[in-house]
Amino acid sequence: MSEGGATIGIDLGGTRMRVGRRDGRGGLIAERALSPAGAEEGVAQLVALARRIAPEGVARVGVSAAGPLDFATGVIVPLNMPGWHHYPLVAELSRQLDAAVVMDNDANVAALGEWREGAGRGTRTMVYYTVSTGVGSGVILEGRIHHGAHDTEGGHQVVWPNGPVCGCGNRGCLEAVVSGTGIRNRTGKRGEEIDDPAFWDEIAFYLAVGVANTANLLCPEAIILGGGITARGDQLFVPLREKAAGMIRILPVPRIEPSGLGQDSGLVGALVLAETSAEC
Ligand SMILES: [Zn+2]
Repeated sequence: MSEGGATIGIDLGGTRMRVGRRDGRGGLIAERALSPAGAEEGVAQLVALARRIAPEGVARVGVSAAGPLDFATGVIVPLNMPGWHHYPLVAELSRQLDAAVVMDNDANVAALGEWREGAGRGTRTMVYYTVSTGVGSGVILEGRIHHGAHDTEGGHQVVWPNGPVCGCGNRGCLEAVVSGTGIRNRTGKRGEEIDDPAFWDEIAFYLAVGVANTANLLCPEAIILGGGITARGDQLFVPLREKAAGMIRILPVPRIEPSGLGQDSGLVGALVLAETSAEC
């Protein structure tokens, strides 16, 4: 392992992947590429990008990967990337870069990034939801990602009993109602094409149910929402805060805010993961 080498972050998504490091002035140096269909070609590209941004060598790598993944073995089974199924990503990156590698799923890593350097800064307990094609969740308890016995799946909490069918087979999951896929299944349209305030008020209501459930169970100081849905801005967040506050009666209402890092939450989180993990 390159003792004096750089710490880098990798954000591996279904359509694109990014490799980055800190620039020493509070910013990032990052390279990106489209995610190839096959894992071996993809890792070859990731290694090439890593060597380009860290010519002195790489010591530590934090990886944000689309789930699900096996934390114990470092093997990934990303739902929308069949060519990467059952690939030992941690072992291969570690071998090819001669570096220590730590990995977590994209929602957890983005949560870590938001907690440390984004909208969740200064909190001890924070929950992050990414609302895009699907809905993922990341729970930060006392500065650490909370996995529980396996991992959290806040997108599959029921917010609408007997509601629309979810990809998981259940009915009325948060994901089935508010995700891009859920909105398209219910309306035949993409969220960006819908301007009806009543529709967004309804989305805010179901999100508020999820936010209030989360607040009442974990009492976080902040609940942060990332992903495509944040583009709605106040049209979503104003009614969401109002409705959630109406459902959280006993505890303090947490801050409910859009992601502070936007597209960078995964890459920043991957860097924080590498910088803070005992395995690195
Ligand atoms: Zn579900």
